[in-house]
Amino acid sequence: MQAMQDYESQWQKQIDTWKMEITSEELAWRIKDLQAFQKEKNRFEAGIDIIQKVPLVKRAFCLMNEAFYEVDKLRETPHESWRMFQIVFIVSILPDLVGREYPDLDNNGTDTVDVLWFPTGGGKTESYLGIAIFQAFFDRLRGKKGGVSSWIRFPLRLLSLQQFQRIVEIYAQAEKIRRKHEDLAQQGMEPFSVGYFAGGQNTPNKITEKMRKLNIEYENFFDRYKMVEKCPFCNQKSIEIFFDENKMQLEHRCNNESCSEKTLPLYIVDQEIFRYLPTMLVGTVDKIASIGMQRRFTHLLGNVNERCSYHGYMSCGECTEDARCDLPKEAVNLYDAAPALVIQDELHLLKESFGTFASHYEGFVQMLQNKTSGGKNFKIIAATATIEKYENHIQQLYNKKPRRFPVAGYELGSSFYAREKDYLGRLFVGVMPHNKTHLAATQELIKTFHMVIQDIRKDPDIINKIGLETIKTKEELELFLLDYETSLLYVNSKDAGSSISRMIESSQINGYLTENGYMPIQPVELNGDSTFAKIRSTLDVLENPPAERDKQIDAVIATSLISHGVDVERLNFMIFHGMPAHVAEYIQSSSRVGRTHVGICFMCFSPGRERDIGYFNYFSKFNEFSNRLVEPVPINRWSKFSVQKTLPGLFMGLVLQYYQPRIRHKIARNLWFSDGLREALSKGYIPKEEVFDFLKEAYGIKQDDPGTKHFIKEIRKGLELIYLHFINPKNEKTTEQLKEIFGYMPMTSLRDIDEQIPISKDIPSNDFLSKMRYRRSRKP
Ligand SMILES: [Zn+2]
Ligand SMILES: [Zn+2]
Repeated sequence: MQAMQDYESQWQKQIDTWKMEITSEELAWRIKDLQAFQKEKNRFEAGIDIIQKVPLVKRAFCLMNEAFYEVDKLRETPHESWRMFQIVFIVSILPDLVGREYPDLDNNGTDTVDVLWFPTGGGKTESYLGIAIFQAFFDRLRGKKGGVSSWIRFPLRLLSLQQFQRIVEIYAQAEKIRRKHEDLAQQGMEPFSVGYFAGGQNTPNKITEKMRKLNIEYENFFDRYKMVEKCPFCNQKSIEIFFDENKMQLEHRCNNESCSEKTLPLYIVDQEIFRYLPTMLVGTVDKIASIGMQRRFTHLLGNVNERCSYHGYMSCGECTEDARCDLPKEAVNLYDAAPALVIQDELHLLKESFGTFASHYEGFVQMLQNKTSGGKNFKIIAATATIEKYENHIQQLYNKKPRRFPVAGYELGSSFYAREKDYLGRLFVGVMPHNKTHLAATQELIKTFHMVIQDIRKDPDIINKIGLETIKTKEELELFLLDYETSLLYVNSKDAGSSISRMIESSQINGYLTENGYMPIQPVELNGDSTFAKIRSTLDVLENPPAERDKQIDAVIATSLISHGVDVERLNFMIFHGMPAHVAEYIQSSSRVGRTHVGICFMCFSPGRERDIGYFNYFSKFNEFSNRLVEPVPINRWSKFSVQKTLPGLFMGLVLQYYQPRIRHKIARNLWFSDGLREALSKGYIPKEEVFDFLKEAYGIKQDDPGTKHFIKEIRKGLELIYLHFINPKNEKTTEQLKEIFGYMPMTSLRDIDEQIPISKDIPSNDFLSKMRYRRSRKP
């Protein structure tokens, strides 16, 4: 606190000297910067105050620290303390969280979204996990025995397995600590757990009969869903997947006999997540679209009222796993069971139509939670390493006030929390090919690099030749090479990746190498299509290179998949095959190398592209200022046609999550059948004006804002159509009827903008082709 005070006074002094030198306009914004820092300091002070004054907050804060201390002990190089910005951020957020329990301490903190903005590798993940673990303990201490406490979302499935491992580790340690405290371990308190809520092909929505059969037929069938390799309790690679037929639960189990635990507190099947309500939900943003398709979604917002002795939480009098389940059930009444904290990582990637759709669904989840949990809102924290104009981005995405942490300092390159390092971190080399395609230039780079590495190994006199101070023995040289021998080849598309991969395997690289007495290169491709099993095994080989030559990896060819959360210290040499489309992506991806050693990046420009030529001409200036060249995120909540696409899903969301539990006793069929909805609409159980108001709130429409007028019109029109067409629905399922009305089904992902249409030859084109063939063959 004193240090912050001192920094503030120095800043004030600096402003006094500036007064003479700069224009009044410039002075005004420099004073504004200082005021932002003063507010930051005040918030930290308020956080400290609340820890001292409120015993539950103090205890949760101490338990959180204990959990991080335990996790740290598992690391090879323990840190043992927070970084300055981490602890200041965690403490400053506390006042925004306690209002949920203590209304007189409510500071309306949930109206503001905090943007945590720090360079890659600076420790953002630990900062927000600190807040999430605090929330977990705070919730149990205040009597919330179960239910989701925090929900962290990633765009796409950019969450890396390494990041997921870290999240599971911290919750596992928190769980161990929870059990040691009598009040937290009492009957009915749920264990802390983590749920992987991303769906897609990587984790199942439900364990089907077919999967169970496959599991009997092929041993280890379920291994493909292994999300964690290392046991978070004993730190050994001892995890096996086990399917519990009774509980219908896919478990990660530790097979290390000396481990204190057996089953990890981890759920990866959607169905299990709806049944056990993990303390921390980890997933993709896309998954919120399931609010319009999956009626159990409401469980995540705390709306459960019974528990099956085998299958966990349920609602609407129906066991979540199996409607025919007749095992004993008990009534439950979870205290304040909705999530209190939402964390959005990689905020800058929520943009364009994806960002717009996300903004509508985000608004809907906020509205729904507010309606079903007595007017309470969750706190949102967004993290990013690269962002420009974050104020507008936050306004568009969440319709809330933005606040940045930390504010910049008064000197270039340093703030209160961090200083730019004065030693070499990364070396950038720009390459512009002449009389060559950029593929050919990339080929030369790859070939030369791997030949040099092999030459170094072959030359007995190399240590004297390079004359490095730190490398005097053969062993030291080997250790050094270990950190540089693997090349990371960054490509802008999957196709570019495949052509590089083919080029390596062909005579152009591997053929040439073998002919000239070198070993061929062994490449691995990673892109959006790679399975988790493949990513996991690749990372494993990179981190612990095997002794057998045929199992090693020499080159990783990767798309932007690699850019987020993949931390492999051994990767320090990188070749860019062309400039990434966005500066933010360039910064993110090049941060993959040089994390602990000096990184070397070759940027191989495409000579045919105007943009690449521009970057090449100013390459050193570009690297110096790349952080300030990040493009603002294009996002527009009010984009004209977006409402038509999201309206069916949001309407269906209201029907499934809000009305179904409330009116199901009054109607003959459930609302997902159009007969059921017809009855509910015609009998006035779903009042049109009420739906209109809910939707207006979800979209964030303000009456006096002219920019939102067309949204009001579209919602009104949409509702009229729904009420009209459901008088005589033609389709059995409600969603299909909605599709007939709007032309769009409720979204299943925030990216499925248009349905795919199959392309086939029709008869006229067949005729055309045969005529063409005929004409060609007649040609002399
Ligand atoms: Zn273990
Ligand atoms: Zn059951």
